[in-house]
Amino acid sequence: MHRRQFLSTAPATGLAAATGLVAGTAPARAQEAPWAPPGAQVPAVQRFTVGDITVTAICDGSLVIGHDALIGIEKDAFDSLMTDAFQDPAAFPAAVNTFAIQSGDETIMIDAGTANAMGPSLGQMAANLAAAGIAPDSVTRLIATHLHPDHVAGALTGDGGAFFRNAELAVSETERAFWTDEANFTGAPEMMQTFAQLARNVLSAYGDRVAPFSGEAELGRGLTAMPLPGHTPGHSGIMLSSGDASLLIWADIVHVTPVQFARPDVAIGFDVDPEQAVATRRQILDRVTADRLMVAGSHIGFPGMAHVVADGEGYRMVPAGWQYTL
Ligand SMILES: [Zn+2]
Repeated sequence: MHRRQFLSTAPATGLAAATGLVAGTAPARAQEAPWAPPGAQVPAVQRFTVGDITVTAICDGSLVIGHDALIGIEKDAFDSLMTDAFQDPAAFPAAVNTFAIQSGDETIMIDAGTANAMGPSLGQMAANLAAAGIAPDSVTRLIATHLHPDHVAGALTGDGGAFFRNAELAVSETERAFWTDEANFTGAPEMMQTFAQLARNVLSAYGDRVAPFSGEAELGRGLTAMPLPGHTPGHSGIMLSSGDASLLIWADIVHVTPVQFARPDVAIGFDVDPEQAVATRRQILDRVTADRLMVAGSHIGFPGMAHVVADGEGYRMVPAGWQYTL
C-alpha cells in the first residue's frame, strides 16, 4: 500500500488523528528544504544539554588517518582493530568536530575547524553553524583547545581576518608562547613551520582580543580549562559544569577511536611530545572512567560525545545516545 493510500484510508480517530496528519495533504515542507540533494549529507549539528548549558556539536568534516600517521603499533594490529570496528584500515575517516556553547548570555565556540586549509572533506563548520541558527557575529568567545590548523584555521576568513568578528580568542598562554617562539621551529620539519605560521596568523587576526589563560583557569559561565599537555604544550580540555551535570571537552586526547581506546599507548605523528601525550591520555581515560564523566572529542565520530569504560588492558568507547528533549 502506498503512503497516500494508507493516510486516506486510516480511520480519522486512529493513527492519522493521533499524529495530526490530515488525509490528502502532501508533505510540502519536505520539498522546500534547502538540503534536498541525495548525493550530499544533510547538516551535521546535534544538541546536548549539560544542566543549564546548551552544547551544539558542529561538524567540520573528516580526514583520513592511516597506520603511517601513528606511532607504536604494528600494521597487523592496526588493521585488525580497524576490521573489528567495521572500518576500512586504508580509509578511516577521523571526525573534526567543533562545539558551540550557549551559557547565560554568551555564545562560546570551542575550536573553529579548518576552513579551506585542509581540503574539501573539511571546512563545513560555517555552513553547519548557520544550520544551527548561530550567527558568527553573535559569538562572544572562541576558546581554542590548541593552535593546530584543524582547530583554528576556521577562525580566519578567506582574506585572513577574524571569522568571529566580535569574539575574544581564549587560548592557553603556554600554547601561545610555544607557537610564537621562533626558536622552537628553527630547523623543524616544513609541516611544523606551516603549523606555526597559521597559529601566528590566527593570533594576529584577533590582535588585542587574544585572552591567554594559565593552567586550570576559570573561564566563567561554568567553563574551566584543564591542561592536557603532550599533543601540544598548551593543549587544554574544557570542563563544563552546571548543577550536578558535567562534560569534559577533551579535544585531541584520541584521534583514531578504533585504535587508541583499546591501545592508549599509541601516539600520533602530530604529537609535539608523544610520550607526554600517552601519559596524559592514560591519566584522563582513568579519570573519566572512574567518574563516569561524559566526554566530547574533537576527533570522536560525530557528534563526538561518549562515555568510556575499562575493557581488558585498555578502554572502550560508548557513544552517547540522541538527546530527545532538551
Ligand atoms: Zn586535532
